Amino acid sequence: YTAKARRTGFAVFDQSQDSTDPRKLTLAGDLRRGIDEGQLVLHYQPKVDAQTGRVLGAEALVRWQHPEHGLIPPNDFIPLAEHTGLITPLTRFVLDSALKQCRAWLTAGHELTVAVNVSAHGLLDLDLPAEIAERLAHWRVPARLLTVEITETAIMTDPERALRVVEQLHALGVHLSIDDFGTGYSSMAYLKNLPVQELKIDRTFVSSMTTSERDAVIVRSTVELGRNLGLRVIAEGVEDIATWRQLDAAGCDALQGYYISRPVDPDAFDTWLGSRQAEAPAALA
Ligand code: C2E
Ligand code: MG
Ligand code: MG
Ligand code: MG
Repeated sequence: YTAKARRTGFAVFDQSQDSTDPRKLTLAGDLRRGIDEGQLVLHYQPKVDAQTGRVLGAEALVRWQHPEHGLIPPNDFIPLAEHTGLITPLTRFVLDSALKQCRAWLTAGHELTVAVNVSAHGLLDLDLPAEIAERLAHWRVPARLLTVEITETAIMTDPERALRVVEQLHALGVHLSIDDFGTGYSSMAYLKNLPVQELKIDRTFVSSMTTSERDAVIVRSTVELGRNLGLRVIAEGVEDIATWRQLDAAGCDALQGYYISRPVDPDAFDTWLGSRQAEAPAALA
């Protein structure tokens, strides 16, 4: 078994939903131990202002540093965590670690936002708002610096319950972002009812907007929809300067993507931030 073959294996049997599959039980045990033994790590990907290139904050993206299989990407174990209930301790770890990082940036003089991804189970967890309030206080991070990224699909799992959780997060002053906007089971009703501040346009539309006029139309219309609703609009998956220019021209507020930076470990992020601030901001020509 190479790490890669093993990884493909995860995804395949994970879809089987068969909790008695012995390999799945082994992996679930591995993940349980991995969480307890500190094998989960967060990488950070910057969010920048579309007009000026100024760094606004970063999104925390979890990876599993497996002792035998190396660095495992989230799509290979988040579904497993969701099916086995391990998503709750995983989300708790991610929140704590991201807020600790946000505090470290503040202490170093950088006021940066930090975003965490919360999947369906987290969004339906009525204890989540109180836990977040406790961690914000613990790390002395102002609530407005935390963004919780949720998906349309997670909201639609149980809209009434999701609304309760989201309203409590909003009351704390935490910002809410709709991630992967446009790819889920969308309903305009939730945009009307949910106190969200940000729409994040999915990279499937963004990455092809310079080559597909249909995708460009979808992106421009989404920017307009978001802005008309008074929301901040961010695009993910910006891989070249042409896409950046087109997004800026469309009125998109913020950007994320490999063109700016890949998700990197905290030390590399600090180095990147330092060099970024030393240079003139990468303004558009
Ligand atoms: P996401 O939240 O939509 O995150 C964006 C994904 O796109 C990340 O993949 C990121 O590395 C990738 N990406 C960013 N810029 C570019 C680009 O320019 N080009 C391309 N091709 N890709 C780009 P990653 O880190 O593998 O994460 C995948 C998904 O796993 C995330 O999608 C999110 O749904 C989930 N995830 C990550 N961390 C967590 C977590 O802590 N908790 C939960 N529940 N889910 C998480
Ligand atoms: Mg996200
Ligand atoms: Mg996304
Ligand atoms: Mg995504």
